[in-house]
Amino acid sequence: MAEITLEKIVSLCKRRGFIFQSSEIYGGLNGAYDYGPLGVELKNNIRDIWWKEMTRLHDDIVGLDSSILMHPRVWEASGHVQNFSDPMVDCKQCKARFRTDQIDLSAACPTCGTKDSFTEPRNFNLMFSTHIGAASDASSKIYLRPETAQGIYVDFKNVVSSSRVKIPFGIAQVGKSFRNEITTKHFIFRSCEFEQMEMQWFCAPGTDEAWFAYWKEQRMAFYHRIGIRPTHLRWHQHGSDELAFYAKDAYDIQYLFPMGWQELEGVHNRTDYDLTQHQNFSGKEMSYLDPVSGERYIPYVVETSAGLTRNVLMALSDAYEEEALEGGDVRTVLRFHPLIAPITVAVLPLVKKDGIAEVAKSLEQTLRDEFATFYDESGAIGRRYRRMDEIGTPYCVTVDYQSKDDQTVTLRYRDSMEQVRIPASDLVSAIKAATKAYKRVGTES
Ligand code: ATP
Repeated sequence: MAEITLEKIVSLCKRRGFIFQSSEIYGGLNGAYDYGPLGVELKNNIRDIWWKEMTRLHDDIVGLDSSILMHPRVWEASGHVQNFSDPMVDCKQCKARFRTDQIDLSAACPTCGTKDSFTEPRNFNLMFSTHIGAASDASSKIYLRPETAQGIYVDFKNVVSSSRVKIPFGIAQVGKSFRNEITTKHFIFRSCEFEQMEMQWFCAPGTDEAWFAYWKEQRMAFYHRIGIRPTHLRWHQHGSDELAFYAKDAYDIQYLFPMGWQELEGVHNRTDYDLTQHQNFSGKEMSYLDPVSGERYIPYVVETSAGLTRNVLMALSDAYEEEALEGGDVRTVLRFHPLIAPITVAVLPLVKKDGIAEVAKSLEQTLRDEFATFYDESGAIGRRYRRMDEIGTPYCVTVDYQSKDDQTVTLRYRDSMEQVRIPASDLVSAIKAATKAYKRVGTES
């Protein structure tokens, strides 16, 4: 099988409208990306499945959408002002900047090859700062949030007093975060503006370890459910050198990206650290009175913290395949699970004339209510199938002369390329059933 490189994925993303570099016509902005017509659908589908699973399929999780700009004291309490930094060095010769944990400091500069050219390591805070209001002095300095979690902790009391939640319960949030990352290579894997899907689970001290085990299992199951190959997912437990000083335990879900195993999501037992910090810094009581036991305590937090935009890169990397066909042909196919594919069903008239296009168009209209559809009548049918394979459309429906006579159509499955003739009136149920039973086939399933 041909090697899957990040370059191939980047090129497909640009060619087919998944992801573009930000401000490309001005030379581009490092670390910022735009999600094109197909990319935004893929990203929204992953987000919506996560949201549905968290807030609807789990008991006792409510949603939140907190603001990106917050009181600057939040970031003092959280430790980000003091500690959220990466040590870095500059090359004195070419001015390139590196994270010290990502290069060999005793070797030559990877960019210009000069020896002994690095500055002493310096700490570089990853938070973007700006000013609020007319004055631009120290008193007006605020930050763009580097994680969504703090918005959840700060609203903990508001949620408890306004909803009918009782501990244990969770608060879920999806939103943008910003980090002034020094090294932004690897496409959207590490960007300066990105999206996170985080859930903070508040529980009684002493129950945290059992909940931690529960959430670990749930989070891995999520990736299996959206069709990610289990052989490309694994756990990595934080060693004592990686574990935050307040954390009791932490595991990352890693994915085998084209550039190797890398973090996709973190599951962390954060103890009562965050709420205690906010209680100390704000002077507001953060404890909870348990109505059953009558005990008062500061809840423990188990966090599941996933990168949504990093999930998009994972979905693309996992789906991408160059399949050798009989006759020496190669087709590029994205084997997305039908639940996350940007387009679910394409409707293709075999020819445009003799009213076939009209039949196909009206069929596409009837399918819109149920699925993300696409109508395409241009080019040879084989080419149209390939175009749909390349963007991961799991089902193509072809309308031909026979369709006009007996109201049957051809349903083509992306992975197997198998075609079946069925009554058009059975399409919705056939597609739903195939999606429910979906199991990836291909060179590595
Ligand atoms: P790293 O060590 O890779 O910088 P981290 O351990 O600081 O990341 P967390 O703070 O735990 O990451 O963030 C939770 C999740 O948010 C990560 O697992 C990742 O999916 C996502 N994430 C973090 N930083 C970025 C980024 N710069 N670009 C894209 N996604 C990110």
